[in-house]
Amino acid sequence: MAARGAAARTHFLASDRHTSSTVRRRDGEYHVRHIPGTAASKSYTCPGCRLSIAPGTAHIVAWRADFVLGDRYAAEQRRHWHLNCWRIS
Ligand SMILES: [Zn+2]
Repeated sequence: MAARGAAARTHFLASDRHTSSTVRRRDGEYHVRHIPGTAASKSYTCPGCRLSIAPGTAHIVAWRADFVLGDRYAAEQRRHWHLNCWRIS
């Protein structure tokens, strides 16, 4: 029996649909998802301050909503930001 829909292919976007919001910034539109500390299991580098986001730190993930190459590619280019860095960037 085939898996239902394209869940595997678009897993990130599909799982994001309920919790992400779209924001308009000066350089375009972004999907933004809030990651609670309990769900942050890896370390990421914040593009705002170039410092790492330690595992267990609540942060946001942002990716372009209007990317010319499409949502899937944009999602692969998503970036993890400190909450404050995203707010002030
Ligand atoms: Zn930062």
